Amino acid sequence: MTARPISETIASLMPRAKAELSELVAFQSVADPAQFPKSECEAAADWVADALRAEDFQDVALLDTPDGTRSVYGFLPGPAGAPTVLLYAHYDVQPPLDESAWLSPPFELTERDGRWYGRGSADCKGGFIMHLLALRALKADGGVPVSVKVIVEGSEEQGTGGLERYAEAHPELLAADTIVIGDTGNFRVGLPTVTATLRGMTMLRVTLDTLEGNLHSGQFGGAAPDALAAMIQLLASLRAEDGTTTVDGLATDTEWDGLQYPEADFRKDAKVLDGVGLIGTGTVADRIWARPAVTVIGIDCPPVVGATPSVQASARAQISLRVPPGQDAVEATGLLTAHLEAHAPWGARVAVEQVGQGQPFRADTSSPAYTSMAQAMEAAYPGEKMQTSGMGGSIPLCNTLDALYPEAEILLIGLSEPEAQIHAVNESVSPEELERLSLAEALFLRNYAESKRA
Ligand SMILES: [Zn+2]
Repeated sequence: MTARPISETIASLMPRAKAELSELVAFQSVADPAQFPKSECEAAADWVADALRAEDFQDVALLDTPDGTRSVYGFLPGPAGAPTVLLYAHYDVQPPLDESAWLSPPFELTERDGRWYGRGSADCKGGFIMHLLALRALKADGGVPVSVKVIVEGSEEQGTGGLERYAEAHPELLAADTIVIGDTGNFRVGLPTVTATLRGMTMLRVTLDTLEGNLHSGQFGGAAPDALAAMIQLLASLRAEDGTTTVDGLATDTEWDGLQYPEADFRKDAKVLDGVGLIGTGTVADRIWARPAVTVIGIDCPPVVGATPSVQASARAQISLRVPPGQDAVEATGLLTAHLEAHAPWGARVAVEQVGQGQPFRADTSSPAYTSMAQAMEAAYPGEKMQTSGMGGSIPLCNTLDALYPEAEILLIGLSEPEAQIHAVNESVSPEELERLSLAEALFLRNYAESKRA
């Protein structure tokens, strides 16, 4: 009898995977006690812990993280001397938003037109099922060739940082040779993609004062230095005419050398209105993955309703700056601060306060882990080569793990391709993607173990 290929094993495991994903999606595990009972998250965590125990994981534990949620941990020892791979997913989900806009109940996995609909089906309960499928297939096909740690977070969507703080306080717990974060997605269905870079961010609050108090705009307007007008000029100095971010001393001409993002696709994904142009220069990928981007995310000024004819004495704004890989977030913060201090008109008084900062991330795509993943993805997606994309946003846990384990390679893969509509209504997962990515992950673990033996 010849052993059947591992791809067939995974195919045979798909009905069970669907049944399990249905059970997992049924938990209304939104980590926001104001909206959903905490018992839903607790039940989902218990389900994950039971699933790990059933796969012979040891030391399975529900970790109480400082934000009041629970992450689930387990360890599956591999052969002596084998490397350790950490697999990440999260069981908490976004709220369903407008339930009436869902075509089927958000917490009931429903098949429609070849996709499985339900909140968390792709982001990221499907990611946990993907890890289970990969491990089960390996077990059925000669065994898991690496030691595996699994961590399934309980509050990723809330951004409360519980697992980050816990990991920092227990630096040994998640130590691994390679980390697979199963929470991103292919650029499109059928195109195997690893997210290889993330932009960092710095967040500043700028307060601008010009007068001791507000003045009558008839009596004083025209000569009195208007703080709101000064703020508008100051914020305008952060952009060129074409919308390119312009912060003194900050490079804005870096280029993206991976997968390209066609402009028409971007317009559609971003829902840009007809006749309205994009901002910036270079390719779309340059602009969103390789260059800095400033966004004014809030302005304190009098609201329109109840506005009085006054010259404003002060104004305040909050500014986010996305920092691309290759730039240092601390340096970018300094440059943005200096720019804001230098560009206020009329000698207006400016105070800048930093309210947040995270470094960008760039994986080493020539590492053994990336080579192993590229081979695995090409086998799981016949005829396709693995692509590398960037992500404009940040994943704070990625920075935490990168800082704790600088030697470990981090790979970001997952089920959240564009059609999955994660965070929106009618989220879904493609079962073919689940099958192919589970196969890719299984083959990756095997290739990676071999590369370490060689
Ligand atoms: Zn997610």
